[in-house]
Amino acid sequence: MPNLIFISFYIAIAGLGIFLFAAQKLKEKDKQVAALKASLEEMDEQAKLIMRTDMELNKTQEELDKKISGLDILQKLSRDISTTLEEKQIFRKISSEHLEELGFEKSLAFLWNDLKREFYLCLNLGFEDAESELIKTAVNTDKDYYLDLIRSGKNASSVFIPDDFLTKDRINQLFEVRSFIICPILAQEGDQGFIFVGTQNIETRITEGEQELITILANQIGQTLDNARLFEKTWRSQQELEIKVEERTHQLSQALEEVGKVSKRKSDFISSVSHELRTPLTSIKGYAAILLAGKLGAVPDEIKNRLEKINRHSDELVHMVNDLLDISRIESGKVNMKLESLELKYIADKVADLLSEQLKAKNITFSTNIPDDSRNALADRSQIERVFINLVGNALKFTPENGKISINAHRSGKIIQIDVSDTGFGIPEDAQGKLFQEFFRVENAINQEVKGTGLGLALVRHIIEAHQGRIWVKSKLSEGSTFSFTLNAA
Ligand code: ADP
Repeated sequence: MPNLIFISFYIAIAGLGIFLFAAQKLKEKDKQVAALKASLEEMDEQAKLIMRTDMELNKTQEELDKKISGLDILQKLSRDISTTLEEKQIFRKISSEHLEELGFEKSLAFLWNDLKREFYLCLNLGFEDAESELIKTAVNTDKDYYLDLIRSGKNASSVFIPDDFLTKDRINQLFEVRSFIICPILAQEGDQGFIFVGTQNIETRITEGEQELITILANQIGQTLDNARLFEKTWRSQQELEIKVEERTHQLSQALEEVGKVSKRKSDFISSVSHELRTPLTSIKGYAAILLAGKLGAVPDEIKNRLEKINRHSDELVHMVNDLLDISRIESGKVNMKLESLELKYIADKVADLLSEQLKAKNITFSTNIPDDSRNALADRSQIERVFINLVGNALKFTPENGKISINAHRSGKIIQIDVSDTGFGIPEDAQGKLFQEFFRVENAINQEVKGTGLGLALVRHIIEAHQGRIWVKSKLSEGSTFSFTLNAA
């Protein structure tokens, strides 16, 4: 019996032990289950996070794709727009397709006419004409709002309206859209304005990227408007200039024609007067000569003196008439220049020889310096001799005793320049430009004494110009003068 009790006791002890052990195990299991649950929950959270991140990434990717394709469209559009130089054409370049690719189906652009104090429409995509007219009227009613927007340079959109005067809803209602962007067109030249883009699509969310794209488009339009207006201005002023040039050219050719006619009349007049003068002059000279020779009886000294004067003055007159005739003949192209190779040194020496008496009388040193490359000119001998005689003769007349006269030549290319210099009285600056006109003589004390007609230099100029040459003078009072002219080298 005691044994039975003992055994039962042991069994109870063992049972308790097993129970306790089992309870312990159960507790541990519970703990494990709780830990498992917690980690499952954590995994679930992470999975959700991953999904969220993935969704966001997808969205960002989508936005990025949209932005890239938007930029692509913009780039093409910009290229198209920027090559446009006509204001009206700029907006015609923007099409519904471009707009749709940017995610909008409606667009209007308005520019401000400051003179009329109103907005005018320059782009309409997606609106009926009547609708756009209504919107234009509404825009002009709220013009201050839009003008402020342009002035501030800010965008207005379904996301952000800078001023709450016009609410999102009001704009949505007016333009019949769900989302929109309004962006100022800021041009430096001429009218400014704004572009509106919008969509009726409920799913469209206006993002910052889209606002940026439309801003770029508006800026591009602004710049192109500037270019077109500048081009228009330049083109218009060029047109005006061309018209003016044409008018002036016409006036000038008329004036030239008139000058030509007058000059011909003058030449004809001089020529006929000279001819008429020559005949009586020749008779006067002839009679004076006959009287002087005593062919009509002895002539007392007193009368002889007067007759000599008549003879001298007649000579001067004949000389003058001849010069005048020559000028008018050369001017009217009646004198043919017989071109030949002339040795300039030979002509210079010949003239010096001709004037040697006068040179000696005033003790004037005469020199020439004509290098080999300038030796020969292609010109009319007798005419060029007259040029030399006139220029050296003048130098002699207007150079005081013990002075110097020199003839120098040098060549550049096919042209020979000949300088006739003296150490004479010089010519006042204001008279230098008129020296080559007919009958011009400097009004000074020297010219009271020195005789002349004022025709010599005019004749020289005509001869040189008939040789396609140029003539000019450089002179300083009391130092001397240099008359330079050009001839073609032979
Ligand atoms: P003329 O000598 O018959 O008066 P020209 O036509 O030859 O006519 O010259 C016009 C004027 O130019 C002269 O009256 C003179 O005042 C001035 N002139 C010409 N050559 C010289 C010179 N070498 N030095 C100073 N004055 C000159």
